[in-house]
Amino acid sequence: MEPDDRARVVLEETRAAGHDDVAWKQGRVFSLAYYGGPQVELVAERAHAMYSSANGLNADAFPSLKRFQSDVVARVIEWVDGGAEAAGFMTSGGTESILMAVKAARERGRRERGIDSPNVVLPTSAHAAFEKACYYFGLESRRVAVRDDWRADVDAMSRAADENTVLFVASAPQYPQGVIDPIPEIAALANDRGVNCHVDACMGGVTLAYMARSGESVPPWNLSVPGVTSISVDLHKYGYTAKGASVIVHRNKTLRSYQTFVTDNWLGGVYGSSGVLGTKSGGPMAAAWAVMRYLGDDGYRSLTATARRTALRLADAVESIDGLVLRARPDSTLVSFGSREQNGPDIFAVADELFRRGWYVDRQGPPPSLHCTVNASHEGTIDDFIADVRDAVRLVGESGGRGREGSYGTVE
Ligand SMILES: *Cc1c(COP(=O)(O)O)cnc(C)c1O
Repeated sequence: MEPDDRARVVLEETRAAGHDDVAWKQGRVFSLAYYGGPQVELVAERAHAMYSSANGLNADAFPSLKRFQSDVVARVIEWVDGGAEAAGFMTSGGTESILMAVKAARERGRRERGIDSPNVVLPTSAHAAFEKACYYFGLESRRVAVRDDWRADVDAMSRAADENTVLFVASAPQYPQGVIDPIPEIAALANDRGVNCHVDACMGGVTLAYMARSGESVPPWNLSVPGVTSISVDLHKYGYTAKGASVIVHRNKTLRSYQTFVTDNWLGGVYGSSGVLGTKSGGPMAAAWAVMRYLGDDGYRSLTATARRTALRLADAVESIDGLVLRARPDSTLVSFGSREQNGPDIFAVADELFRRGWYVDRQGPPPSLHCTVNASHEGTIDDFIADVRDAVRLVGESGGRGREGSYGTVE
């Protein structure tokens, strides 16, 4: 249908509101957004629009959404080598997947071992969403310092655990420096104690699966590793679908049962839900299903190869720029770097200069660093970006300017 006059005006206002937003489709934004090209975007947006008001709370009423979820989860189970027993759910994003992993671990500890003051043992590099989960669900977060190479320190994690530990966490890769933790060793700690091990592959799940299929050697990272009990993969990142789509996969249905919630303790009858949300838009589920069908294995292999190649190109360039230090060789597509010396160019001033030139990168620390989430949309712009980074480092070095820290998320 064509919009009427009033609808046209309102839609134009809506579009105009985005005027100052970052230009994420032009390959100038290295954080927060992912772009798989105009056709992928079109498929995602149209599929999303078709089901945006359908409600995933009750799949009996919407068999379409049930089908989308079960097909999407089945595909992700293949990516993470889950095997025949694995079972999962779609969630609204990485944070909800992680909330559910922590909640499931707490519940298992309570029911199987009577633990009422549970703790989680996790490296300092694990995502902030684990902190949120511990805070929401009343678990103690036991952060353990990472090694010099930014990977989790398994011996220190073992020492931090006790009889109230219900969960060990590993990441593939961790967000801040983009490296994969020693997952078999961490999973073994969990296995020995009969507790959960969650692998946060929110960022790497799609990329690592297709790097391996293209013949790159990838360290063990998924459910093929004994002792891993659950894993999260975000589709709204390197799955290149619309925002609001992630998957959590558990090793089997028993472990998954600790995630769900059912009650009849109100006047409205039996109420069950798999995750945090009640009413749940079908839009992201439909978009994920449609984009996955549209891209297929070939599409993902090609987008992954492009992103990976581009990330390595940036990493090589950073290593060649005087005054910069690459935090780690990227294990997937995340590139993190800082100032080589304590009194070298202020890295946040470099980010300010890049921002003035129309680039958006993530600022993080400790230590003060810039972080680039490289995706397929950067292939055509990476050389310009590298030239501007080189220039910005030189300018800041000469002027001695200081920059502002910034943050990954906001509260207002
Ligand atoms: C993005 C991310 C998350 C959180 O996911 P959201 O989709 O932002 O909620 C968790 N872990 C890692 C490693 C991530 O990159």
